[in-house]
Amino acid sequence: MVTPRGAEGRTRTLDRLERACPGGVRVDEPMAKHTTIGAGGRARYFAIPRSTGEVVGLVRAALELDIDYIGIGRGSNLIVRDGGFSGLVIKVADNMRNLRLFSRTAHAEAGVSFTRLGRTLTREGRPGFEFAVGIPGSVGGAVRMNAGAFGRDIARVLKKATVVDGEGRVVRFTPEELGFGYRQSALPSDAIVLSVIFNCPPGEIDKEALRLSRSRGETQPLAQKSFGSTFKNPPGGVAAKMIEECGLKGTRRGGAMVSDKHANFIVNVGTKTEANDIEDLIDFIINRVKARFGVELTPEVIIIGDR
Ligand SMILES: Cc1cc2nc3c(=O)[nH]c(=O)nc-3n(C[C@H](O)[C@H](O)[C@H](O)COP(=O)(O)OP(=O)(O)OC[C@H]3O[C@@H](n4cnc5c(N)ncnc54)[C@H](O)[C@@H]3O)c2cc1C
Repeated sequence: MVTPRGAEGRTRTLDRLERACPGGVRVDEPMAKHTTIGAGGRARYFAIPRSTGEVVGLVRAALELDIDYIGIGRGSNLIVRDGGFSGLVIKVADNMRNLRLFSRTAHAEAGVSFTRLGRTLTREGRPGFEFAVGIPGSVGGAVRMNAGAFGRDIARVLKKATVVDGEGRVVRFTPEELGFGYRQSALPSDAIVLSVIFNCPPGEIDKEALRLSRSRGETQPLAQKSFGSTFKNPPGGVAAKMIEECGLKGTRRGGAMVSDKHANFIVNVGTKTEANDIEDLIDFIINRVKARFGVELTPEVIIIGDR
C-alpha cells in the first residue's frame, strides 16, 4: 500500500516532471504498449517529450529528483521486467521525427524511424543505408545498439551524435567517442541521443543489400510480436543455427515461444505473456546451447526493471 508520504512524494515528483514536459507525463504506464514484444511491467513515470528541449528538461528534472531514468525509442529491442521500472522512462520516438537532407549529410532527430531513414536516403540515391530498411527501431535506439544487418551498421555512416549526458549537459560525440562494437556502443546508460548527423554523399545504391533488406519476411517472423534477434552471434558461430540444432524451435514458456521460422527470434504467442516467461526461455536456451556447444550466448535484447 502506498503511504501518504509516498503519495505526496509521488505528486511532487509528477509536478516537477510535468513542468519539464507539460501534458506529456503518465504514471504507471504499461510498457507492453511501448515494446514490440507486447509484454512486460509498468513504468512508474513515463514521458513523451515533444522536443529536444523537453528531453533535456526531463533529464535535469530526474537528476534533481534523484530518480533513475532511461531513454527509449520504439521498444523494438527491449523487455521491461514484470515488477516494472521504478523511475522515469523517456520515450523519444513518438515525436522528434524531423529528417533533413543536405548535399553530403542528413540530420535526423532521434525519434526518426530507422526504416524511414533507410528508405528516404536510398530513394534519394545516398548509399550506405540500405541495411536500415526493415529494422523497426529509431535513430536513437540504433545508435545505442549499433544497429546493423548484412555486414553493415550505423557506425559506418554516423558523423556526429548530439546527446544529453548524465549531468544534463548537451554534448556532441564522434563515432570514436561512441565506441561502437558488435550490436553495442559505449554510450553511457544515462545518456540520451537527441539527434544525429549522418555522412551520406550521393552514389550508387547497393541493389543486392536492398533486396536482402526487403526480403527479411522470408526468414523472419515479421507478423508476430518479437524483439528481433534474441542473442548476438558468438565469435565464429551463428546463434540461430545453434538453437535450431538443440531442437528448440517451438519451445514454449507461458506465452513466449522460440519461433518456428527463425530460431533466434522469441515470439509472443500468448494473451497474458509475462516478461518472466521470456526471461525463463532466454535462460533455458542459454543453458541448452552451453551444454551442447560449450558456448554461452549473450542476449542482444536489453532487459530493464525489477523481477
Ligand atoms: C522484427 C525485428 C527485426 C529486427 N532486426 C534487426 C536487425 O536486423 N539489426 C539490428 O541491429 N536490430 C534489429 N532489431 C532490433 C531493434 O530494432 C534495434 O536494436 C533498434 O536499433 C532498437 O531501436 P529502438 O528505438 O526500438 O530502441 P529500444 O528498443 O526502444 O531501446 C533499445 C536500447 O536503446 C536505448 N535507446 C533507445 N532510444 C535511445 C535514445 N534516444 N538515446 C539513448 N538510448 C536509447 C534504450 O535505452 C535501450 O537500451 C530488430 C527488431 C525486430 C522487432
